[in-house]
Amino acid sequence: MRFLAADAVYSAESGFIPGAVLVLEENGAVVEILRDPQDSIMEKAQHFSGVLAPGFVNAHCHLELSHMMGKVLMHTGFTGFAQSLIPQRKFIPDEKIEAIAIEADETMFANGINGVGDISNVALSFAAKRNSKMQYHTFIELLGFNPSLAQQSLIGGKELKSITPQRSSLSPHAPYSVSDDLMKLIAEAESASTVVTIHNQESQAEAAFSIDASGAMQELYRFFGTDISWYKGYGVNSLQHYLPLLKTNGNLLLVHNTFTAAEDIRFANSIRKNLYWCLCPNANLYIENTLPDIPMLMNEGCALTIGTDSLASNHSLSVLDELKVIHKAFPEIPIADLLKWSTYNGAQALGMDSLGSFESGKCPGVILLTGVDAERISVDARVVRVV
Ligand SMILES: [Zn+2]
Repeated sequence: MRFLAADAVYSAESGFIPGAVLVLEENGAVVEILRDPQDSIMEKAQHFSGVLAPGFVNAHCHLELSHMMGKVLMHTGFTGFAQSLIPQRKFIPDEKIEAIAIEADETMFANGINGVGDISNVALSFAAKRNSKMQYHTFIELLGFNPSLAQQSLIGGKELKSITPQRSSLSPHAPYSVSDDLMKLIAEAESASTVVTIHNQESQAEAAFSIDASGAMQELYRFFGTDISWYKGYGVNSLQHYLPLLKTNGNLLLVHNTFTAAEDIRFANSIRKNLYWCLCPNANLYIENTLPDIPMLMNEGCALTIGTDSLASNHSLSVLDELKVIHKAFPEIPIADLLKWSTYNGAQALGMDSLGSFESGKCPGVILLTGVDAERISVDARVVRVV
C-alpha cells in the first residue's frame, strides 16, 4: 500500500480536505482517503507540498492536429480560422503528423491528464492512442452539408471506426457542416453508444447561417467552392434546429458553447437528458477572442467539462492552463468547481468509470497541483504527475 500526504487532497465528493492522506494499492487503485490520519500513518506516508487530485480528463481534443501549432493566426474569427487551417493540412507527410501526435499524447500524460475525448477525421492519431498511458474515447467526426453525400459519409466513418483503438463513436462535426440527413443517420447508428459529441455555437456566424443562411459561413462555403445555393436557412438557431434530430440515448457532449444563451439551455434540457457542456476557453480566446458566459451556464445547472481543443488553436494541451484562464476571467467561481469539471465531470461525460475521482477501487491517476488552493489558482501554478 502507498500513503500519500499533502497540504490537501481534492476529491469530487468532498472538495478540498486539508491534511488528508490518500491510500492507494501498489497498482494505483484507490483504497480510501484518511481525513484524520494517525501519527503512525503520517510517519510512513510520502509527503507532498500542494494539493493531490485525481488525473484530469480532457473532454475535447484533436490530437491529429498537433502539428498545426503556431500555424494559424489568432483572433481571425471562426471562418478565418477554418480558411487558414484546412488548406494547410494537406502538405505535411503522414509520418510527421503521427510522430507529433505521439509526442502530444506523452505531453498530455505529463500534464496530468488521464482521459481524453478526442476527435479524429483520419487514422493519424491511432498509433499514439494504441500505445498511450491514457484512456481515449475517439469521436469519429463526420462532415457533409450536401444531403446527397450523407450515406457516403456514414460508410467512411464506420470504416474508420472499425480500426480505431480503444473506445469510439461517430459524431457530427458541427451544425453548419452536417445535413439533417447525416445528423439523423449518425443518431441512428449511435443511438445506444455511451457518448456522442458536436461543436456547438462556437461562433456568431453559426446562428446567422442557421436562421436565414446569411453571414460569414456563406463565405466559407464560397472559399471551398461548395455550392449551397439550395440552402435557405432553418428559421431557428443551430442548437434549436439540430438537437431534436440528434436523438441518442447516451451522453451528448456539446463543445464550446461560446454563444449559447440561457434559453438555448432550457430548450435543450426540455427535449433530452444526459447533456454535458464542454468549455475550451483558450481556443475561444485564440479564435474568437471571447469566452462563454460561464456563470450563466452554472446558473442554468449545466454539467460542465473542460477541453483543450487542438494545438491549431491553443498554445498547450494542458487542462490546468484552461483552468487558469477561467479563474482569471471569473475569479468568483470556486476552485473546487473547476477541479470537479476537469476531473469527475469529464470522466462521467466520456463514460470513463475508473477515472475522475478518488472513490475506492478507481484508478484515476494522481497529480500534484502547486500554486492551487481552495481560493485561487496562481498564474505560475503547476501540475506534476505522482501516479
Ligand atoms: Zn474542436
